[in-house]
Amino acid sequence: MQTMAEERKNNGETEPLLWACLKCGYRVEGEPPPEKCPECGADKSEFEEVPKPGY
Ligand SMILES: [Zn+2]
Repeated sequence: MQTMAEERKNNGETEPLLWACLKCGYRVEGEPPPEKCPECGADKSEFEEVPKPGY
């Protein structure tokens, strides 16, 4: 049995990703995450993928 997530992956559908800076909470949509946080200058390793609200 397939989960919804797997089905979506198989369809090749891409959802917009949301990244959140762990340092200042800045959020940005898209992929990949920015090299640096425009707000606090944190490295992209400080960005964490977060579920898009509404899904
Ligand atoms: Zn930041």
